[in-house]
Amino acid sequence: MQTQRIGTRSILLSHEGLDWGLHLQLIFGKDHNFLIDTGLGFGSVAPLKELLKDEKKPLEVVNTHHHWDHVWGNGFFEESLLVSHALCRKLLEETMLQTYEKYKHIARGEVRFALPRLTFDSALFFPSDGVRLFYSPGHTEDCISVFDEVDGILNAGDNIGDTDEEILPNLECDTEVYHDTLEAYRALSFKLCVSGHNRPRGFEVIREIEQKLR
Ligand SMILES: [Zn+2]
Repeated sequence: MQTQRIGTRSILLSHEGLDWGLHLQLIFGKDHNFLIDTGLGFGSVAPLKELLKDEKKPLEVVNTHHHWDHVWGNGFFEESLLVSHALCRKLLEETMLQTYEKYKHIARGEVRFALPRLTFDSALFFPSDGVRLFYSPGHTEDCISVFDEVDGILNAGDNIGDTDEEILPNLECDTEVYHDTLEAYRALSFKLCVSGHNRPRGFEVIREIEQKLR
């Protein structure tokens, strides 16, 4: 794993040795720390041990959506709230064993399943931390995004395409639904946008995607 500091209080953890990018974000909040997505298993989340070794604050683990490459490390955080959209929990229950069988050759270390323990429908705010989770369907029906108000960093999950060449993501939702999500992103006037697979991008990424959407 490669680690990169972004903003004043986040670390981006990036997988190495895959043909595609895969990133987790760790936010050090005031009262809680937040891990956004858990990757491919123990190999994805092991670096957290070192990064959090002096931390007393609880770690809140967030799943941006139910896809396998974002959730296989969930079970390593027994003491954390696992947070997701309500639909994400349902879809995980329905699909996680099947998708594991299909993609287990890509796992990094042991995989431990766990379902989200705290779910929401529209938004969840951690006011003292300035961290806002909100529903943002598009790539999938259960997508949520995370906005760090202190640094102006948006984590859009897989709502940003995997590469600059394919900046429009796979969309399971109607284009209009995804367009509304892009408008919600635009309203945040974010400084930096991190995502599951692409490199960190600036605010211009919204316009780039909208051009492809037309
Ligand atoms: Zn996905």
